[in-house]
Amino acid sequence: MNNIPVVMIIFGGSGDLAHRKLYPALFNLYEQGLIRDNFAVIGTARRPWTHEYLREQVSDAIHETHKEVSENDVQAFVSHFYYQSHDVTNVEHYQALKELAQELDDRYSAQGNRIFYMAMAPRFFGTIATHINDQHLTSTGFNRIVVEKPFGRDLASAEKLNQQITASFAEDDIFRIDHYLGKEMVQNILPLRFTNPLIKNVWNSDNVKNIQVTLAERLGVEARGGYYETSGALRDMVQNHIFQIITLLAMPQPTDLTAKSIHQAKQELLDSLVMPTKEEIDQHFVRGQYLGSDTTFGYKQEPNVAEDSTTETFAAGQIKFQKGPVAGVPIYFRTGKEFREKESRIDIVLKHMSNPYGQAHSNNITIVIDPQMEIYITINGKKISTSGIRRENLDYTFAKSELAQVPDGYERLLHDVFVNDSTNFTHWSELKNYWKFIDLIEDAWHQDNQAGKKPVEYLPYRMGPKAADQIFDSATEHWIYD
Ligand code: NAP
Repeated sequence: MNNIPVVMIIFGGSGDLAHRKLYPALFNLYEQGLIRDNFAVIGTARRPWTHEYLREQVSDAIHETHKEVSENDVQAFVSHFYYQSHDVTNVEHYQALKELAQELDDRYSAQGNRIFYMAMAPRFFGTIATHINDQHLTSTGFNRIVVEKPFGRDLASAEKLNQQITASFAEDDIFRIDHYLGKEMVQNILPLRFTNPLIKNVWNSDNVKNIQVTLAERLGVEARGGYYETSGALRDMVQNHIFQIITLLAMPQPTDLTAKSIHQAKQELLDSLVMPTKEEIDQHFVRGQYLGSDTTFGYKQEPNVAEDSTTETFAAGQIKFQKGPVAGVPIYFRTGKEFREKESRIDIVLKHMSNPYGQAHSNNITIVIDPQMEIYITINGKKISTSGIRRENLDYTFAKSELAQVPDGYERLLHDVFVNDSTNFTHWSELKNYWKFIDLIEDAWHQDNQAGKKPVEYLPYRMGPKAADQIFDSATEHWIYD
C-alpha cells in the first residue's frame, strides 16, 4: 500500500529520538512511496521553534544519516513538516494542535487519519492520552497511537496508563513499540525455528539443555543517571527487550503469520510463565552495580545518581514456562552496563548425547543480533590426521551489500504502524505478564534492600559480576558467551 494519507503528530518533536531515529526513518518511507503526497507531520515541544526551523532540523537529521541523498527529495519531504509549540500539560494548547491537524488534514487530503507518536519522557504518556481524549483530538479516519518504552514502571502504573490510552484508542490501534522487535536478527528467530527441520526438530525440552540471552552494553549510564535511577536494568531491558526475545524463542508455532495468530501463540506461552518464589529469586537472580576505574566513574558517582543508590546496572536471572516446546527448560538472561564489549546474542545449548567417541562438544545454536548479525551452529567433526574430535562452526553470515540494505528497527516498525500491522508490537495481555514477573523480582530485591543486602559490585569492562556464574540449575551449565 503506497501514499497512505495521514497527519502524524509527534509529541517530543525536538527530542533525540525524533532527530536520530524517527525523521530519518520517515524519510526512507517517503522515498519508498509509502507516504508521499497526502501526509503531514506536526512536531510538537515547548520550545518556540518555527515551521522553517523544524524543517532545517529534519533536513539535518537526514543528512546525518544518509551519505548520498537528493537535495530535491529532502526539500520536498521536509515541506510536509509543521511545528506547534505545545506544553503537553497545558490543556488549552491541545485546541491549537487540533486546529492545525484539521487544517493540514484538509490541505493534504489526509482523510481524517491520525497517528499520534509519544516520543517523550514516559511520565507524560498518561497526560497526553488523557488530553487526546478530553480535547477530542482523534478524527474521523483511523486513529493510531505509538507509545515508547517504558510502558509503566510496574503492573499498577502500566494498568493505569493503559486505561488512559484505551479511553480513546482500541487495543488494535495501540502500538507499544519495542525497537528490538524491529531488529533483523530478532525477526529472523521465527523463520529460523519453523522452516528448518534441522532446528525445529531439536527445539524442544528433550534436546535443549538451556537457552541464554545476553544483552551487553559497553557504555555506562552517562548523562542518563536521572532516568536510570527510576528504572534500573530490570525495568529498562528485561521487562521489554529480553522478555520479547524469550517469548519468540519459547512460543509454540503459530497457526499462520497473521498478527492475531502470533499474539495468540505468545499468549498461550505467557499464560504458563512460572512465577518464581523468593527462595528461587535468591538462588537464580543476581543484580549488580558497576564500580569505577582510573578513567571512569562508578555508578554511584555518576551525575544525578544517589550516593547510596541500590539501582541495579546489571541483572541476570532465569525464566521458565510450563508450556510450549521448551517447557521446563531454563532460559537464562543477563544484561547490563559496562560489559567488556557491546553484544546482543542468544545461545541455545543442546544436551550432550552419549556417543562412541566420548569427548564430543555440545551443539550450540547462536544468534548474534548486534553489533554484527550472524547465526552459527557448533558441530563436531574429526581432527585432521588424528582420531580426535574437533569443534567447528557452521556460519550463516550476510554479505556487505546485504547488510547495507537492512532497515533500521524504527523504519520497519513505523512502516508497520502505517500499514496497520501489529505483529511486532507488544499486546497488552503480554505486557501484563511481563510486569507481574518483574514486580515479583523488584519486591524481592526491595526486601533485600531492607535487610541490608545490596546489589553486588562488579568491575567495569568485564562480563558483569562473578555471582552471575552461580545462577544455573546445575554445575554442568555455564555461560557460553564468556
Ligand atoms: P528527549 O531527547 O529528552 O526529548 C524529550 C522531548 O520532550 C523534547 O522534544 C522536549 O522538548 C519535549 N518535552 C519535554 N517536556 C515537555 C512538555 N511539558 N511539553 C511538551 N514537550 C515536552 O527524549 P528522547 O531521548 O527523545 O526519548 C523520548 C522517548 O523515547 C522516551 O520514552 C525514551 O525512553 C524513548 N526512547 C528513546 C531512544 C533514543 O535513542 N533517544 C531510544 C529508545 C526509546 P522541549 O524541552 O522543547 O519541551
